[in-house]
Amino acid sequence: MKLAKRILIVLAVLAVLSQVPFAYRRYVFGETADKIASDNAARRHVEDARFDEYTGIIHAHSAIGGHSKATFDELIAGANAAGLNFVVMTEHWSDAFDTSAMTLSGFHGNTLFVAGNEIDTADDDRMLMVPGSADAAGLRRLSTRDVVKKLHDEQRLALVTYPERFHSWRADIDGVEVFNLHTAAKSINRFTALFDLIWSGSSYPELVFARSFTRPDENLAKFDSYATEDKTTLFAGTDAHSNIGFYLLGDETGHRFFGVKLDPYERMFRIMRVHALIPKGTPLTQENLLAAIADGRVFVGIDALGDSSGFRFRFGDRTMGERASISESGTLTVDIPLKSRVILYKNGQKAAEGSGNDHFEFKPDGPGVYRVEVYREGLGMAYQAMPWIMSNPIYIAPAS
Ligand SMILES: [Zn+2]
Repeated sequence: MKLAKRILIVLAVLAVLSQVPFAYRRYVFGETADKIASDNAARRHVEDARFDEYTGIIHAHSAIGGHSKATFDELIAGANAAGLNFVVMTEHWSDAFDTSAMTLSGFHGNTLFVAGNEIDTADDDRMLMVPGSADAAGLRRLSTRDVVKKLHDEQRLALVTYPERFHSWRADIDGVEVFNLHTAAKSINRFTALFDLIWSGSSYPELVFARSFTRPDENLAKFDSYATEDKTTLFAGTDAHSNIGFYLLGDETGHRFFGVKLDPYERMFRIMRVHALIPKGTPLTQENLLAAIADGRVFVGIDALGDSSGFRFRFGDRTMGERASISESGTLTVDIPLKSRVILYKNGQKAAEGSGNDHFEFKPDGPGVYRVEVYREGLGMAYQAMPWIMSNPIYIAPAS
């Protein structure tokens, strides 16, 4: 045999062998997806006499604010297809025009859009301002403290995004974005992700991403130390841009050939959702939604791993974001639609743990700020590194 022919055969064999791990992973993704589908079909219904639950996402961009070429059509289609009840838009500011006035707001299909901004301050902090305003660009000349005060005077929410880069923790903030889906998706290994998406992408794209997520330890520690001092809301941001990918040929009108987009809106909207509790008998409106976010009546679900709708963390009849007193007799209860592992945190420290059940009761160990993380069981180790559900705290005060 000629040398060239031998080399070709060796290369061909190596090329085939290099794909074996991805083919095997496709098989494992398939098993995992089947398990998730059958678990979802058998979810327990959790009663709630006080609240209705709505699902959506916080932190989305379109071409209006730059960093993205995506259109409103793509956004609306993605949100509707993913079944979202709400999308909180957070357009980057522009000196030339009011990006919040130009972005989506109100109902489009079944999805309520809220027009907000992502803003910068003179202290080099980044926040989400909801609703947005024509002042978004000018806020970069004010200190974080003054921005927060101004937003509160105007009845707007000031939410911290990228807490790892936030400096001004004593500024009366309304919420902390403990996990950013765009950042997590960007840090995925694009080489293995490319082959995973070729083998598994059309069937299991959400799982390809979800297996790379890890618990945001540092951001959760920042949230916990702030929440122990001052009530605030835990949330996760999708930071949807629809702009991660690569292509071989393209033109200035945005046409892409031989390309892969890793983060189309619908995919990002299905991976992770924010679940908001709105008092029964009141409709989903911008005002009611922002009140739920401000009060901490929300939880985060990595819903690609199982539909977390129905999760409840309560103390007696109080829910997340509410205050109670240790003098009230009662237990902290956790209700989950699927049997899972639960960790109870008190002031940021692990206080109790349980597994293999869909209902847990914990006696509070004195006054403190209590929240829970829920982890999926039975999906394999790759999905144990990230909480499936993150609750907001219940604040238990000393006996008065
Ligand atoms: Zn953003």
